Amino acid sequence: MTADQLTPAPDASVPVIEIRDLHKSYGPLEVLKGVGMTAPKGHVLSLIGSSGSGKSTLLRCCNLLEDSQQGDILFEGEAVHWKGTGLHRHPADKAQVLRIRTNLSMVFQQFNLWAHMTILQNVMEAPLTVLKRDPKEVEAKAREYLAKVGIADKADAWPAQLSGGQQQRAAIARALCMEPRALLFDEPTSALDPELEQEVVKVIKALAEEGRTMIIVTHDMKMANDVSDHVVFLHQGRIEEEGPPDQLFGNPQTERLRGFLSATM
Ligand code: ADP
Ligand code: MG
Repeated sequence: MTADQLTPAPDASVPVIEIRDLHKSYGPLEVLKGVGMTAPKGHVLSLIGSSGSGKSTLLRCCNLLEDSQQGDILFEGEAVHWKGTGLHRHPADKAQVLRIRTNLSMVFQQFNLWAHMTILQNVMEAPLTVLKRDPKEVEAKAREYLAKVGIADKADAWPAQLSGGQQQRAAIARALCMEPRALLFDEPTSALDPELEQEVVKVIKALAEEGRTMIIVTHDMKMANDVSDHVVFLHQGRIEEEGPPDQLFGNPQTERLRGFLSATM
């Protein structure tokens, strides 16, 4: 796939990601029970909720790392084509899956950097091998993104030589180097000591201010409050409550959200 195969950006009113009535089961266990969610271009969505409520599953369904049994997933207005039904339902179009996955870059809690590659090589890997971009251009971009996350001087270091916060910033640079339409974060600060957490939060805030489209699963209610346009509270696979952060955190409507917030804040 080349950069030219990116679909042209649609007008800004078309959401980058739209999920409608999504159902997802692991065998007999239904973990998403009809979830709808929209990520407009330039918006930051946060997903909050107790452990096991389905946040990671929802995020992984968005970029088709997980199959789902019912409901629609739209990327820039283009619906995912499915074949089969129920537990046998899978995306039908491999090129579409690749297009969606490369345009929705994921940042994981555990960084997932390749230990046998330098930081620069980690950041360059997917644009080179998946997108088949020109190595010189990719290196220039990779160095630019490493500078953006504040670790330009670590380009030739190995992941093990970096702190957790630096490794996570490298993982963010790696996601950015794909030049995706949206970034998906799954608990990006949860594996970090408190003093390292803030350097990652700072990078995420800067990306939000640049107008990047992001969906962030997080336990960090302060970050969710500071960076989000919209917050979604999941409870046992359903959206229990959602709204702008000042409303969700300032004036929660449901007993469950009030209970969750008083336990976490
Ligand atoms: P969260 O990210 O909110 O903690 P998850 O999406 O990871 O929640 O998990 C939702 C539910 O799905 C949990 O009950 C979890 O045990 C279950 N689950 C997650 N991944 C798998 C899997 N690969 N196989 C079976 N069950 C899973
Ligand atoms: Mg999770």
